[in-house]
Amino acid sequence: MNNINEIQELWKKALPIISKSVSQIFYDVFIASLEPISISGNQLILIAPYESCKKSINKSYKPIIEKAVMQFNQYIEGVQIITTSDMDSFVDAPKSIIAAEEEPQEEDTKTTNSKDYYTSFEASYSFDNFVTGGSNKAAFVAAQTVAENPGVQHNPLFIYGGVGLGKTHIMHAIGNYIKSHSPKKKIIYMTSENFTNDYIDSIKNNNSNDMNRQFRNKYRNLDVLMIDDIQFISGKPSTQEALFHLFNELYQAKKQIVFTSDCHPKKIDNIDERLTSRFQSGLTVDISSPDLETRIAILRKKAYNKKFDVSSDVLNYIAECINTNIRELEGALSKVIYYCNLNNVKANNLDIVNNALKDDIDNISGPVTMQFIVKCVSDYFNIDQKDITSKKKTKNIAEARQIAIYLISDLISVPLVSIGDFMGGRDHSTIIHARDKISDLISTDYRYANYIKDLTEIIKKK
Ligand code: ADP
Ligand code: MG
Repeated sequence: MNNINEIQELWKKALPIISKSVSQIFYDVFIASLEPISISGNQLILIAPYESCKKSINKSYKPIIEKAVMQFNQYIEGVQIITTSDMDSFVDAPKSIIAAEEEPQEEDTKTTNSKDYYTSFEASYSFDNFVTGGSNKAAFVAAQTVAENPGVQHNPLFIYGGVGLGKTHIMHAIGNYIKSHSPKKKIIYMTSENFTNDYIDSIKNNNSNDMNRQFRNKYRNLDVLMIDDIQFISGKPSTQEALFHLFNELYQAKKQIVFTSDCHPKKIDNIDERLTSRFQSGLTVDISSPDLETRIAILRKKAYNKKFDVSSDVLNYIAECINTNIRELEGALSKVIYYCNLNNVKANNLDIVNNALKDDIDNISGPVTMQFIVKCVSDYFNIDQKDITSKKKTKNIAEARQIAIYLISDLISVPLVSIGDFMGGRDHSTIIHARDKISDLISTDYRYANYIKDLTEIIKKK
């Protein structure tokens, strides 16, 4: 086994075992900073960021590490802790490579070609396919600015936000845009894992003392460098060191740098402060969870792209039920499409969605939905749920509908247009009228005050 992914997997398994046998502080300061780089002979080679770290581990804790590693791989007989200055003797690399200082050009060409695969972008992750709303507008506009004029404004651009909110989509959109408008520009997109592996590969495969410099040579001709999920660089001091120098070089040459992370740069643990401050030296923008209106618009766009006909109230309902992240929202729509195709039915009523998303909706203990309020009102007045969202004008139905509208606008934050859509395609002035009418009646007619009080209690018990 000398595949870097397998070696890292092995190390990941050993770490929890090691942590049980050493003090927390020793673990955080020394063990967590080790990086596995290769297997040489029957020894796992771990690189320590500095000499005193190597010495402290060798002094007392090497046997613990060896025991943990050997549990997961029978061929390993020991570990060697090294620092970058010991590299040449321990990695399985040819010893006769000419140092980069002597033949830098050859090194550059070789690596630029071999890294071409980083430059392909997912075609559907374009700016056109990205729906904007309050939650992501700032990141979207900044990304467009960067794509139109890389390296001029917002350098670096640092986008952070929770999982499934569109960070990777935006990076690919930058890549797609630049590739189509300025095909000559050299642009690399990579995950921080790719970056770490590439760094480790580069130090494995050369014997120069100036490894960081050689590594940077690979990237210095770039126009744009994008590293996705940079938070995973946490606890990897030598990769951080390499990134720090690379950053400075690209930045000084006015080359665009874009990062994404699942949290604000300040919240990334175990990271060199010099990097944290570099990350924040350009523009830092967040992407947060989209509001209902944006979620509906995203679903509408996705349904349109998939050429799938789906009614507005079905879209609204899915968007109300799935309020976690956009990846799940897409997943829910795909399930509905699949269900409809399988059963040869149209996506035009909520029962279909409930059936298609049975498992997902049961698991959602999210906020009160419009659907839930309508159900409570229909139970309370003993009126069929469908009548409330229908066009029927019978007095008791119309009144229950107005009460439902009042409660929706009072208890949950939903745009009036969405309420109108949900209530059978009514226009927003009808919604305002219903809401204001009930609001007046509450203060003049005790019966209405009681309805609203009772129903509010029922709904809030959810
Ligand atoms: P992240 O990288 O933040 O975890 P992704 O970029 O992978 O999230 O997005 C998850 C999915 O949601 C992708 O399929 C992406 O196209 C889609 N998506 C995210 N945000 C939007 C948006 N604003 N408009 C359209 N699709 C989006
Ligand atoms: Mg991502």
